[in-house]
Amino acid sequence: MATEHTLSIIKPDATRRNLTGRINAKFEAAGLRIVAQKRLRLTQAQAEAFYAVHRERPFFGGLVSFMTSGPVVAQVLEGEDAVAKNREIMGATDPKKADAGTIRAEFAEDIEANSVHGSDAADTAAQEISFFFAGIEITG
Ligand code: UDP
Repeated sequence: MATEHTLSIIKPDATRRNLTGRINAKFEAAGLRIVAQKRLRLTQAQAEAFYAVHRERPFFGGLVSFMTSGPVVAQVLEGEDAVAKNREIMGATDPKKADAGTIRAEFAEDIEANSVHGSDAADTAAQEISFFFAGIEITG
């Protein structure tokens, strides 16, 4: 297994409830290193572009308005098998189906306001990291 980078977003439901530190503690306890991090508020155009793959899905409009409803924390996580490891730590999209101890089981409000985003594959991770970060901002 190689050292990988993955893109994480702490979503507006979690920043609103001041959960950034508790979520970051879960990443660090699992051996992922936060090698870049910034808090920002997405515009509607940025949220639509980030989630363009879901444009035709019924939840797209709601997702964009949720993701622009407050600040997010965009992060690059580094570690062995980081993409898959982060997906494990996050838990299933629907918190009702997420395993105990995962971020979504513990913190998510519902299937939309589910506290975190994580890239689902190495190629999408590279695209999503470059959406938020310049190479110079990532320090291992
Ligand atoms: N989402 C939603 N309703 C759904 C499915 C997804 O609101 O029925 C939202 C949710 O915030 C999810 C995001 O859209 O995290 C992206 O969906 P995806 O299927 O890619 O799930 P993820 O990779 O985030 O687990």
